[in-house]
Amino acid sequence: MSIARQARFRLAALPTPLEELPRLREALGGARRAPRILIKRDDLTGLAFGGNKARKLEFLVADAQRAGATVLVTTGAVQSNHARMTAAAACKAGLRAVLVLSGKAAGPPQGNLLLDELLGAEVRLGEADAVPPVMEELRGRGERPYLIPIGGSSAVGALGYVLGTLELVTQLAERGETPSRLYYASGSRGTQAGLELGARLYSAPYRLHGIAVSGGEPEKTARAVRIASEAAALLGVEARLRPEDLLTDHGYIGEGYGIVTEGCREAIRMLAREEGILLDPVYTGKAMAGLLDHLRRGEIEPHETVVFLHTGGAPALFAYAGEIRTDPTG
Ligand SMILES: *Cc1c(COP(=O)(O)O)cnc(C)c1O
Repeated sequence: MSIARQARFRLAALPTPLEELPRLREALGGARRAPRILIKRDDLTGLAFGGNKARKLEFLVADAQRAGATVLVTTGAVQSNHARMTAAAACKAGLRAVLVLSGKAAGPPQGNLLLDELLGAEVRLGEADAVPPVMEELRGRGERPYLIPIGGSSAVGALGYVLGTLELVTQLAERGETPSRLYYASGSRGTQAGLELGARLYSAPYRLHGIAVSGGEPEKTARAVRIASEAAALLGVEARLRPEDLLTDHGYIGEGYGIVTEGCREAIRMLAREEGILLDPVYTGKAMAGLLDHLRRGEIEPHETVVFLHTGGAPALFAYAGEIRTDPTG
């Protein structure tokens, strides 16, 4: 098994901390009602405010360098964390970044969009379908563009969470922890592919529970399975992932991607006030809303230990002030 032999460009501060959330457990009824909850702080990877994309980009940037790229091109929503971190990764690697983003910025740039600008990326707003012409245009200018798919979710990107799983499984073993579940926010599925493949390769003790932040089944699960098997091929191992083995809960999306739900608002406030940890409005707020709901419905036993993977995203809070701050006093 050759994850250590894969080309990697260091971007993240690793290992990220693994912490316990005792005050959250207390707030949920204490040891007699709630499980122990550990949090894997991948919001603290560094790289322009951190997040799960730092792990993926370590392998993607190395691949871009191998291909002789001069510019990283990627795509996403206007508040894409992945776009912001791609811009930062390009800076560290001495490459340019072109970000093709969907949606509109209302007023002056905020959150991730402001950071994209500060990081010197070339932002093309409202051109989400325009990736092929942008690639053509760049080639015409004599650039060698390297296209990173949305969310960095390719086989190469997924290696980030194969290695991330090795890191987590090692931390758990050192502490004698055997959590039964790992909860995480699931979007473009590269994280899921890496986590599922990693869990099998390193015999993780936990079952993965993805909380979806956007629709698109069954295609998305099929995509995760495909990415995982391509990543396994890069590593020269066999991975027998079946769609029916992958667990993704679609109950916490609300009205759609990037639209804040009441449960998300509650989860953000609760983690902030009990533990001083900031979740985000698009991904981790909804994932934590899912975990809290499963717990309150009695689906998780108090004797269990659960890991929550904090995948980052807090810079988007500033672009969502109006949606999050509905009751400033409450
Ligand atoms: C991108 C992202 C995710 C989802 O990761 P995918 O690999 O796209 O499924 C989760 N949380 C945050 C904060 C993200 O930016």
